Amino acid sequence: MEKRNCIEIEAVSPNSIAADLDIESGDKLMSINGMPIRDYIDYKFLVTDLYLEVLIKKSNGEEWLLEIEKDYDEDLGLEFSDIIYDGLKKCNNNCLFCFVNQSPPGLRRTLNLKDDDYRFSFLQGSYITLTNLRAKDFERIKRMHLSPLYISIHTTNPKLRVKMLRNKKAGKVLDRLKDLAEFGIEFHTQIVLCPNLNDGEELDRTVQDLDELASAVKSLAVVPVGLTKFRDELYDLRSFTKDEAKQVVAQVEDWQQKLGQQQGGNYLYLADEFYLLAEQPLPEAEAYDGFPQLENGVGMVRLFWDQFAEVEDELPDTIEEEKKFTLVTGELGEKALRPVVARLNEIRNLLVELLVVPNNFFGREVTVTGLLTGKDIIKKIREEEVTGRVILPEILLNDDGLFIDDLKLEELEAEFDYLEFILVANNASDLTNELINN
Ligand code: SF4
Repeated sequence: MEKRNCIEIEAVSPNSIAADLDIESGDKLMSINGMPIRDYIDYKFLVTDLYLEVLIKKSNGEEWLLEIEKDYDEDLGLEFSDIIYDGLKKCNNNCLFCFVNQSPPGLRRTLNLKDDDYRFSFLQGSYITLTNLRAKDFERIKRMHLSPLYISIHTTNPKLRVKMLRNKKAGKVLDRLKDLAEFGIEFHTQIVLCPNLNDGEELDRTVQDLDELASAVKSLAVVPVGLTKFRDELYDLRSFTKDEAKQVVAQVEDWQQKLGQQQGGNYLYLADEFYLLAEQPLPEAEAYDGFPQLENGVGMVRLFWDQFAEVEDELPDTIEEEKKFTLVTGELGEKALRPVVARLNEIRNLLVELLVVPNNFFGREVTVTGLLTGKDIIKKIREEEVTGRVILPEILLNDDGLFIDDLKLEELEAEFDYLEFILVANNASDLTNELINN
């Protein structure tokens, strides 16, 4: 007999089928039509039936078998806190560049999770390597058409991929992709580029190989390797230099031109970090084709600048009261924000300063804003003797209001009772609105 998973119901929508049947938050969903539910994909699939027998375990231990007749697209109104119910598929690699392997001691456990689960890839867009899938997983992906998937390629050279992922099963990525593509599965892909490892001719080879699958590859992002200061006894890796970043930009631009001509459109994108490091102009918005790789830091700066350009014409020449703001950013974000801040400071009575916070927690080579800790921000605010209102980008905090070092926003606020902290989304119009109107 198949094992039944107990799926905790987090919430029940008011006026829904579930609410009418007295299903409550805290109850457990055991099965639908006798079928166990492995993940949210199973749930969504099973609830499309017109007739359902839903087994619920109440919090007092009673089991209710509920019969439901419904329309095909009618939702039950159940919400769950998780999307995987039969255990997370963990990564079986040990990549030379793995960020988790270089985490500072004491980092929150959830940030050290090495998941490599195709369900997360399909449902949430997290990257997988295809090295831990069993035949029945491949079969399910094809049968349920779980597409698009997000796949970390890194290289299509089998030997090099085995070396980079330190997994002897990693070499067959191209065959796996071809097989899935034959069943109509599409992919967003990424290459974490490491100097002297998978760059140069190896990058050419990977792009060339993926080009043969171009109808299935919806996007390919090339992102630079991220290195922390905790790399003792790890593979000898380094970051790209400015000159190397220039070469990568030129190489990718050549490919983009070629692919654009061959395929009638481009799908290869380079992370913003490469352009900023190389001090090369960022592509225009059209070049990002709807920004499919924003989460990967591809096109964020262009999008932000374009959002700002849209509100720029509406900016006043002056504001009534004098206002001073300090905008917290990482060292990479500074390059994107400088021109915006310079323009804002042309408004009479408005003063915006940048507080560029170095990342002492992960190390100075980690320059993205989203990985700044509360403690590093506190230290920098003290050093710079900041006054007035402080703008914090929302990405600094997780859903529980914690910085990456588990410091709470309230703890930061308590350190500086003379400062006002304001959270703002990573969006130029929200930022401008906060500075001008509030
Ligand atoms: S796939 Fe590689 S980079 Fe990702 S978690 Fe596993 S070891 Fe780390």
